[in-house]
Amino acid sequence: MAELFEKVAVVGLGLIGSSLTRAIKAKGLSRFVSGFDKDASVRQQATEIGIGAEIADDLSIAISDADLVIMAVPVGAVGAVAAELVPFLKAGAILSDVGSVKKSIIDAVEPLLPEGVWFVPGHPVAGTEYSGPAAGFPSLFEGRWCILTPLEGTPRSVTDKVSALWAALGSDVEEMDAGHHDIVLAITSHIPHLIAYNIVGTAADLEEVTSSEVIKYSAGGFRDFTRIAASDPVMWRDVFMNNKEAVLEMLGRFTEDLTQLQRHIRRGDGQALEDLFSRTRKIRRSIVEAGQETEKPDFGR
Ligand code: NAP
Repeated sequence: MAELFEKVAVVGLGLIGSSLTRAIKAKGLSRFVSGFDKDASVRQQATEIGIGAEIADDLSIAISDADLVIMAVPVGAVGAVAAELVPFLKAGAILSDVGSVKKSIIDAVEPLLPEGVWFVPGHPVAGTEYSGPAAGFPSLFEGRWCILTPLEGTPRSVTDKVSALWAALGSDVEEMDAGHHDIVLAITSHIPHLIAYNIVGTAADLEEVTSSEVIKYSAGGFRDFTRIAASDPVMWRDVFMNNKEAVLEMLGRFTEDLTQLQRHIRRGDGQALEDLFSRTRKIRRSIVEAGQETEKPDFGR
């Protein structure tokens, strides 16, 4: 594939950051790929396993002369990382990120931007429940969506360069307003994670059912929630701390609907339950048809 950049630097070498360096290197999208992580043991692990990047022990070295710098750190750390790295960005550099929340990140980064540096916020809607550099793999973004939420006044050519990178990584790219992104992701990602964390927590705290019974009979449905509830605690803490409004709004609606379900069960309204379950089954089918899931039964996947 044609080189899109002379040098790309990735800051934060966990699941997303190390998948990016691997994929950019494997597809030849940048002549140089460098990486930095604040954690020395992560840098060492990344160097040992090889993630397609030159790992630097110093942030300023990793990003010096980079045309594109992508911050792949937890949402709550993006502002501090941006403040640390902006003094070292070259004129005309593009700064980007992969955070799961967009408005709070823009609020933190935009005031720090020096003249002539562009910030193109991004969010690959792709991931797994694992974290760290060993969890990354180059095909993570293939067939997944990447949402860009460009700031007003960003030249078209700049956004297009970031868009071209994600397209070359195999993603479908869509642009939207940051506030809209945060609402869409609240219902498609953040609330499902909260529900999973809650149900697994509730089961763990039950007095009348032992934890060995919960584990033994988990194939009844519980197991599928535990995959999501095993996601990185720091990453998800930051998502809820930084997308408060949209999450609380969606949670309000969810709670109302749950109360209605409770009423249907109490009143023995089987038809209402069956109607809802038929509607939700159709949504599952459309996700499979859209290529965002396969029809394969989930057991052991
Ligand atoms: P991860 O595997 O935990 O990796 C994050 C890495 O960033 C860790 O190695 C962490 O080091 C490092 N880091 C933290 N603060 C830093 C700093 N100040 N400077 C440099 N490195 C720093 O997390 P991830 O899953 O890749 O998530 C990264 C970002 O991608 C998050 O913003 C998340 O919202 C977003 N995202 C995640 C997914 C997903 O499914 N996981 C999907 C889409 C987007 P320590 O561990 O030592 O703190």
